[in-house]
Formats: sequence, C-alpha cells, structure tokens
Amino acid sequence: MADRLKQVVNHIFSSNMSSADPFEKKVNLGVGAYRDDNDKPWVLPVVRKAEQILLNTPSLDHEYLPITGLPEFTTAAAKLILGSDSNAIMEGRVTTVQTISGTGANHLGALFLERFYPWVGKKEIYLSDPTWANHQAIFKNVGITPINYPYYDPKTIGLDFNGFLNALKNAPNKSIFLIHACAHNPTGVDPSKEQWNAIADMMLEKGHYGFFDCAYQGFASGNLDNDAWAVREFVKRGVNMLVCQSFAKNAGLYGERVGALHVLSSSKEAADRVKSQLSVLQRSEISNPPTYGARIVNLILNDAELFEEWKRDIATMAGRIIDMRQQLYKVLTDELKTPGNWDHIVNQIGMFSFTGITPQQSQALVEKAHIYMTANGRISMTGLNGKNLRYFAGCLDKAVRG
Ligand code: PMP
Repeated sequence: MADRLKQVVNHIFSSNMSSADPFEKKVNLGVGAYRDDNDKPWVLPVVRKAEQILLNTPSLDHEYLPITGLPEFTTAAAKLILGSDSNAIMEGRVTTVQTISGTGANHLGALFLERFYPWVGKKEIYLSDPTWANHQAIFKNVGITPINYPYYDPKTIGLDFNGFLNALKNAPNKSIFLIHACAHNPTGVDPSKEQWNAIADMMLEKGHYGFFDCAYQGFASGNLDNDAWAVREFVKRGVNMLVCQSFAKNAGLYGERVGALHVLSSSKEAADRVKSQLSVLQRSEISNPPTYGARIVNLILNDAELFEEWKRDIATMAGRIIDMRQQLYKVLTDELKTPGNWDHIVNQIGMFSFTGITPQQSQALVEKAHIYMTANGRISMTGLNGKNLRYFAGCLDKAVRG
C-alpha cells in the first residue's frame, strides 16, 4: 500500500515539478497522454472532421442518451474490440454499456461483479504486479480486495511467465484475473501469442473469469486488429469475461470520457438479464452517459472514410512511439555503448516503457538532469521527441554509469 501511494504521489509530483521547472532542456516523461514531435497535445485530424460534421448537424439536440448509451456507438464499439465477425455478437451474447471512459468501464465492471458474480469464497481480484495504480482503488471502492499476481520480472525486464501461470494454477477455481489486453501499463510488457494461448488454457481449466482492460487498442502496434488479438481469442475459446474499452488514447479524446463495458454471457437470455442489471447500476451512478465524445467516435466508427482516416491517425501516433523506441535503443547501444542490455526498449510495446533503472538512478535523472519520470523507472515514450531524445539518452547513460 505504502508503495502504491508513493507511486501515485510521485506521479503527481513529477508532472507538477516538471511544469514548475524553468530549465530549458527539461523533459517530462511522466505524462500519460500522447504528445507530438513538438511535445504538444495532438487533436486527431479525423476528430476535427467529425467535430465539424457535428457542428453542421442542426438536428442534433442535447437530450439525454439512453441509460446504456448511444446505441449506434455501443454496437460499433463492440465490433471494434470483439471483431465484426464475432460469433458472440451475432448470437446476441454481448451486453455493451457506454461508460465514463476506461475508468468508468472498470468501475462499472467491478461494481457489477461485486453484486452478481457467483463468488465462492472471499470477494477478491487478482491484479498484475505492477498494474495501473488506479486499479487498486477502483476495486477497493466497491468492496473487492485486490491481490497481486506475478507479472514483471526485474531480472529480465520482461514477463514473469511462469510466475503468472503458477498464480493462475494456484488460485481457487473461478477466481477473477484482471488482464491488460495489450500494451501493459506500466511495464509495456505483453505476453506472446504462444503465452496468451497457455494463459487461456489455464483460465479455462480453472474456470477463471477474465476482467480485460483495453485502454490502448491500436495505440500499441498501430493496428486495431492486432491489438485486439488476445481479447478476441479468449472470447472465441469461451473464457468467461468482460472487457473495458477506452477511447481516450486511440482517439485522443482524453477529457471527453468515451468508453464502453462489454460483458460476455453464455446465452442471449443471460445477456438480456445482464443488460437490465447494468442499467440499474448505471442509473444510480451517472443516470445517462455523456453525448459529445460518443457522437464523435460514433461518426468515426460508422463512416468507412472516417474510419480509414482514423486508422491512419492511429498509425501516426503508434509509429512515432515505435520510432522513438528504435532511436533511443540505437543511441544507447550503438553510439553511447551504455552498459547493460537495452533490448527491452524495443521489445516493450505501447506508451510506456520500464527502463529497468533503479530508484536512485531515476532520482538522479530528476535532480541532476531535470528529467521527470516515476520512481519505478517508467518512462512515457510520448514525452520523447526529435529534440530531446539525445539529451535524455546522454543523461540516462551518465546515470547508469553512476
Ligand atoms: N486502464 C489502463 C490500464 C490505463 O492505463 C488507463 C489510462 N491511464 C485506463 C484504464 C483508463 O483511462 P481513461 O479513464 O482515461 O479511459
């Protein structure tokens, strides 16, 4: 707990300290949002287009949406994550509710399970160690106790696959495991397809429930389908699960709070019951979800031309991040010959990278070089750009050499 708190405080602190720091070459690698090569927020061109369309549609009013959200949006959002050829969707086994972005989806999913999951023992959820700091609070808030499962191996700066698999094996049957669908936050470490398959085997054998959190679809590899691979595979294989979906990162709609919760059921009848239960919960929490962001995403998902443009915008963001990973790797290994192995910089995926440096080294970077990051050595790749990458690499090299 103390560690988690420290992580959160450090995160808030690092961004505040960064904005107050007058040092010209300061670098903010604590930021959890995309920045372009000029270190500026980027409104996706496709979003600008969709906004223009909304502005020029005088028939749009400001009435309430249905409790479960904008129907065309929720239908398209389910297809986006589960695949347009999803049997579960065609069989009417998916219940989708529009939520307050990914956080709201996590919260509603947690609340739903707390009320309706057929708990055998204590109300507990297994979270990867480490995980997005908010997960702990979200589950505690609804009376579910988080327990950690091994995920990250500091020795390899990669996945602790055996630890993860053993945790699945040793947990009581029908346990709930929170799984990052892609681009694990904060480590950037994802299982391989082979490892995902072994995880699915164990989930099925033990009757575990998958609480999938998907905050970075498209943002990880640049391809929406690739990043949904694990979710779709688990659904196909019949793992009991739900999926939390966020459009904050992949549509750059952070503040508009667009997201969805998808609950998979075994039959259409069960899915209908889930819908009425979720509606009751949603009613008491937010009454009705907000319209603006959902209308933008709805336009993008349901118009072939806008959808193609969105895919290009996503590829621009993911491509820049991948490029920063490659450049950083190259400077550290080829030019500076920084001690240690830096393969993880290019092997990790998505916005974040666990550098593997010690808390002392990251503190030295903050204090001596004005480079802000979390104490656990996590850097946001989007904070790097053509102007500051070399400065960062040079300072990292010095910090590692001590
Ligand atoms: N889950 C994970 C793993 C995340 O990293 C984030 C964003 N930091 C979220 C959920 C939720 O983000 P939002 O509520 O902005 O969609």
